[in-house]
Amino acid sequence: MATPYAYFKKQIVPLAEAKIGVMTHAFNYGTAVFEGIRGNWNTEEQQIYLFRLKEHFDRLRQSCRIMRIEFPYENEELYSIATRLVEMSGYREDVYIRPLAYKSSEVLGVRLHDLEDDLLMFIAPFGPYLDIEKGARCCTSSWRRVEDTAIPARAKITGIYANSALAKTEANLNGFDEAIMLDERGHISEGSGENIFIVQNGRLVTPPPSSNILVGITRDTAITLAREELGMVTVERDIDRTELYTADECLMTGTAAHITPVVELDHRPIGDGKMGPVASRLVRLYFEVITGRNRKYAHWCTPCYSRVKA
Ligand code: PMP
Repeated sequence: MATPYAYFKKQIVPLAEAKIGVMTHAFNYGTAVFEGIRGNWNTEEQQIYLFRLKEHFDRLRQSCRIMRIEFPYENEELYSIATRLVEMSGYREDVYIRPLAYKSSEVLGVRLHDLEDDLLMFIAPFGPYLDIEKGARCCTSSWRRVEDTAIPARAKITGIYANSALAKTEANLNGFDEAIMLDERGHISEGSGENIFIVQNGRLVTPPPSSNILVGITRDTAITLAREELGMVTVERDIDRTELYTADECLMTGTAAHITPVVELDHRPIGDGKMGPVASRLVRLYFEVITGRNRKYAHWCTPCYSRVKA
């Protein structure tokens, strides 16, 4: 039986004991930044591999700079907390690690300065998010992605997820799996929790960071695997909504969503309305890589359980 643990106030405690006060600044004003890291279960090795820990903690540090959250942790210390949480909790399935750096003072007053900061981290079991085989049916959201001039999307700020939640719920209640948001100029930005790619004339095309996206780690994984393993170039440029309608394929990438083909947008099938050849090759490679089965990318995978000697 697995029991979840959390890192809270500089100690590892059972998750059930990690509670914040109702006046906590981050809870009231959205002044926290976070990451989502997947731990992928490998049955043959009886191992959980945490995927791209370095990149997630580097991005967390950048988010902290933007939100003036003090973050005095070395990467090694963070890796050790994350792997210990998995090992102590004892899951034998896919998990999710959520580090969250937050304004922890219990005071009123909206601001970023003159507040205490803290870090917490917890674990939860986490299976599939979208149906990869079936693909995602999406809509163009009536909500626009927040602009860098309002709340910077490049920082993974809790408060920004009000924007994603509005879009996701609108999409789901209208019968779609996921929302795709446009930026204020009307170009494709991203999904509620995913970056977007299209396949056009044998190349991948994806919106640049200046389209108010969170610069995704799965996005980088897809770009790298496409280049290294499929010999495919990725172009970063503005994409119009109707380019998705006419694309050969469309896919979304994210820690939760993995690589999921978008098979329909606004009631129009994309390509032939099912997973296309590029998505199919990328998905297969991606799962090999994240479960530690492809040695070329072993440096992206951190094992958690101490290895039993043969
Ligand atoms: N955009 C948003 C808004 C997200 O929440 C996420 C998920 N973290 C992504 C993109 C994809 O980022 P990543 O691949 O690093 O998970």
